[in-house]
Amino acid sequence: MRLVLVGPPGAGKGTQAARLAQRYDVPAISTGDIFRANVKGKTKLGRQAQEYMSQGALVPDEVTNAMVRDRLSRDDVFGGFLLDGYPRTPDQAVELEGMLDDNGTALDAVVELVADVDEVTRRLLKRAEIEGRVDDNEDVIRKRLSVYAESTAPVTAYYDGQGLLVRVDAVGDVDVVTERLVGALSAQ
Ligand code: ADP
Repeated sequence: MRLVLVGPPGAGKGTQAARLAQRYDVPAISTGDIFRANVKGKTKLGRQAQEYMSQGALVPDEVTNAMVRDRLSRDDVFGGFLLDGYPRTPDQAVELEGMLDDNGTALDAVVELVADVDEVTRRLLKRAEIEGRVDDNEDVIRKRLSVYAESTAPVTAYYDGQGLLVRVDAVGDVDVVTERLVGALSAQ
């Protein structure tokens, strides 16, 4: 199973990615998590990403693409993977296609978690109180949502055109959403 999970910040990608990864026995790869771990570890990659992340902007494609290419070259993705947070721009989507092509593979499906702006804003502000992520404050949330609408929404259109897109309502109980995802994927 080679899957991509897309959706606005706060739609629950991380939560659902972990559950789907377990269900399909593939590694979940979150570009946001990898960046955050690198920021925390004060690596070169972390230093390159930090400024953009704290402003809610996208890390430049050349940095992100190289990181994903490296991650997808490891042995554990041989049998499949679930990408969370990548691709986030049409250019990244094309780049991913090239990486998979080089390995003689392709995506099986792209799942979009659908939730409206009010719902995700509410969730992110709540998460801010619990987790204290630096990019979960009102100004940065607004910026992340506008980046999503401008840069990432076209990615879903791109995959829809390829017949790969599966849209799932992300509003509801975590378990209910997981079952919707599994149901939608088995029907695909
Ligand atoms: P969310 O989807 O809730 O905004 P993520 O954890 O997926 O959170 O991403 C956090 C930040 O990491 C993004 O705002 C961006 O700065 C950076 N990032 C993650 N994935 C990408 C990507 N594919 N391209 C560029 N930047 C990314």
